[in-house]
Amino acid sequence: MKKVDYILVGFGIAGVTLAESLLQRGKTFVVYDDAAKGATTASGGVLNPTVLKRFTAAWNASEFFETAIPFYSQLSDRLNASLINTTTIHRIFNSIEEQNNWMVASDKKELSQYLASEITSNQNPAINAPFGLGAVKEGAMLQPKELIEKFRAYLKDRELLRIGQLDFNALQVTSNDIRYQDISAANIIFSQGASVVNNPFFKLSVSPKDDRVFVGNKGEYVLFKAPALQLNEVLKGPVMIIPLDDHLYKVGASYSRDDFSEETTIRAKEEILQKLKKMISCNFEVVGQVAGVRPTVIDRKPLLGGFDDTLPVYFMNGLGTRGLSMAPLLSTWLLDFIEKKTVLPKEVDVKRFY
Ligand SMILES: Cc1cc2nc3c(=O)[nH]c(=O)nc-3n(C[C@H](O)[C@H](O)[C@H](O)COP(=O)(O)OP(=O)(O)OC[C@H]3O[C@@H](n4cnc5c(N)ncnc54)[C@H](O)[C@@H]3O)c2cc1C
Repeated sequence: MKKVDYILVGFGIAGVTLAESLLQRGKTFVVYDDAAKGATTASGGVLNPTVLKRFTAAWNASEFFETAIPFYSQLSDRLNASLINTTTIHRIFNSIEEQNNWMVASDKKELSQYLASEITSNQNPAINAPFGLGAVKEGAMLQPKELIEKFRAYLKDRELLRIGQLDFNALQVTSNDIRYQDISAANIIFSQGASVVNNPFFKLSVSPKDDRVFVGNKGEYVLFKAPALQLNEVLKGPVMIIPLDDHLYKVGASYSRDDFSEETTIRAKEEILQKLKKMISCNFEVVGQVAGVRPTVIDRKPLLGGFDDTLPVYFMNGLGTRGLSMAPLLSTWLLDFIEKKTVLPKEVDVKRFY
């Protein structure tokens, strides 16, 4: 038997940040991942410290951002790739009232670091923004698909990644260790995203029951080409436009509650394109569409820890709509909880629903 400190199940952003944190701590592990589509590869890659619908700061934004940017920079160095860049996110204003609300918000203590106080006038003829734009500072863009691909290759070279679905029937769990195939591990962490609904150790009710705690929230993006758009930074209106390269953009995302399927839909495409047409006036060509399921919790907070104190079985889940910015600090909280017996913040503890 090969002995390791951890088995990780799932290699989306939760698995990625756990693996990097374990490497930094000198811990041994093996990752199991079925290489299926997950939320992370479908995601927009935007790290946004604010909620642009309401002009508020995202929950715990400053703590998450202080950790996330250096964490992903360090991981980029490990993988010898440029995977994170800072970016400005522009919000299109719809009225004078919105401009005023923005100015008031930008004066608030928790937001002044993120919201530029002045209104920017729109200089791009392909964008419809007669009331101007507000700028969010300190946002960032991660390349989630490239990150996963490069990190998978890194782990595979070191024989730390096993591709395939973990079979729960073949998993032996005792209070002393976890055994699976030729591996004996001191702990197992399930970082399976929305697929956790099929995990027999997961004890929270799943939609569509009335007492649901864990809900799927499907999101879709449309990919389009628009040489005349000439947009280099993220633009938020009724939907978000994210510049990729070579005049290619992602636009979305949609929200569809209680949907755990990963197929793209015509409905989401039409809804997104209708909103896109309100934001831009140039020609564009649709070239693709992606979908993923956000692992979302009813109180919109993550899920960390274990359900049974006698077993070394843990979860990192519930990353919701802002998983990329939260995951680095969440992985630290979870590993400190397991290794150093620290107390998890009660907002993220899986036991808060008991
Ligand atoms: C369309 C869309 C846009 C988004 N945009 C953003 C954004 O711009 N910024 C942001 O911060 N967040 C965004 N999010 C949210 C973010 O993507 C999620 O919070 C995050 O990716 C969840 O990561 P995860 O690792 O928990 O799950 P996932 O990324 O889904 O990863 C889970 C992995 O586990 C694997 N797995 C599951 N079960 C097993 C098993 N039994 N055996 C082996 N492997 C298994 C799956 O195949 C998958 O690879 C977006 C989400 C969507 C859907």
